[in-house]
Amino acid sequence: PPATPAADEALLERRTNAYDALQSHYYEAPPRIERGWKEHLISTSGRHYLDMVNNVTSLGHGHPVVAETAARQWRRLNTNSRFHYASVAELSERLLAKVPDSFDTVLLVNSGSEAVELALRLAKAFTGREDVLCVHESYHGWSLGADAVSTSVSDNPRALETRPDWVHIADAPNAYRGRHRGEGAGAAYAADVVRQLQRLHDAGTPVGTFIAEPRNGNAGAIGTPPGYLEQVYAAVRGQGGVNICDEVQMGYGRLGRHFWGFEEHGVVPDIITMAKAMGNGHPLGAVITRKEIAAALAGEGSFFSSGGGSTLSSRIGVTVLDVIEKEQLQENADAVGQLLSQGFRELMDRHALIGAVHGMGLYQGVEFVRDRQTLEPAPEETRAICERMLELGVIVLPTGDRQNILKVKPPLCFTEESARFFLAMLDRVLAEGW
Ligand code: PMP
Repeated sequence: PPATPAADEALLERRTNAYDALQSHYYEAPPRIERGWKEHLISTSGRHYLDMVNNVTSLGHGHPVVAETAARQWRRLNTNSRFHYASVAELSERLLAKVPDSFDTVLLVNSGSEAVELALRLAKAFTGREDVLCVHESYHGWSLGADAVSTSVSDNPRALETRPDWVHIADAPNAYRGRHRGEGAGAAYAADVVRQLQRLHDAGTPVGTFIAEPRNGNAGAIGTPPGYLEQVYAAVRGQGGVNICDEVQMGYGRLGRHFWGFEEHGVVPDIITMAKAMGNGHPLGAVITRKEIAAALAGEGSFFSSGGGSTLSSRIGVTVLDVIEKEQLQENADAVGQLLSQGFRELMDRHALIGAVHGMGLYQGVEFVRDRQTLEPAPEETRAICERMLELGVIVLPTGDRQNILKVKPPLCFTEESARFFLAMLDRVLAEGW
């Protein structure tokens, strides 16, 4: 369709009519975007936007090496992993080279939901237990199992009333506004989990699986307090369970200092799930675990995914890892992330609305509160700030159960210049008021 305002509006109406409304779109009146380059999105009216939300297109939009690789592989061959070709072995080895030595096996799928679904099945098959412990304010995917362990009420307002019996929920270990705050919060939250595990054990429903992100991405990159994962992982294992670390959002170099989020905590999970950044937007997901855990699934038949580990997906997966290393994108996330953190702290000195800055590297969350004592969330302000940022050329969105946190997770090629522009626009909007 042509790119006039009337045509763009008509196109949006066609979408509304034909595409299920549950799959909502950003903004009431979204710009029509048909092109992107690095951390920039370009509307059909020629407007450039800074893309602060694309942690899927992690290498940046329109990456020529990925495009070339995909085109070449498509011309040669794309088939499923029951055939014998190099790229599936290469990607599996490359992934194993990125994780601690205790891991020795990879399963390839096509999305984060699939990775979580498979991880839950593996854990259940291995432990022989159905019960799962997850944490409040989390999102792990849309499929039956992944949805069951998703507790975020911003994604599903009825989430907490509608979880199946086998799902148990621990407090979100939020040291800023949760039940336990400040130093010692990690140990206090972990002690709560230990008691909860004991109660479930005594009730005859012992937990087989613990699943959590290493930082709660959906809640706004909220840090898991020190000591928490170490103590919870030990307690879960102590009663015969396994720990799944969902790295779909935090992993793949985004945190800058660490390639995986669990490294921040000095822990090693039993099962790792990943997706999003793995394919730079090409659908790719993976589960990494130990052979003894994967072998348990054999009792339920074979595992096969038609698209998972395909010639094309695996080749793209290898290329994405190559580009992350060649372009030093993890190092970039660290450097530009520090500039952003510093910038947010400076803004916090001047703007009372900023209550806290969460996260690190290129996954950060700027939390807006009406009062720094009561921590009253500021969702309307957050929404208005996002709308005004769009007018100024920045795509940034609210997240979390209270919708009062700006999620900052641009492509990893994000430059210092773009970071400065983002900080300047945020400063301007906060100074203008809303
Ligand atoms: N786990 C986490 C932590 C996620 O953030 C998401 C998606 N936002 C998923 C799993 C599901 O991934 P997908 O959308 O690729 O199915």
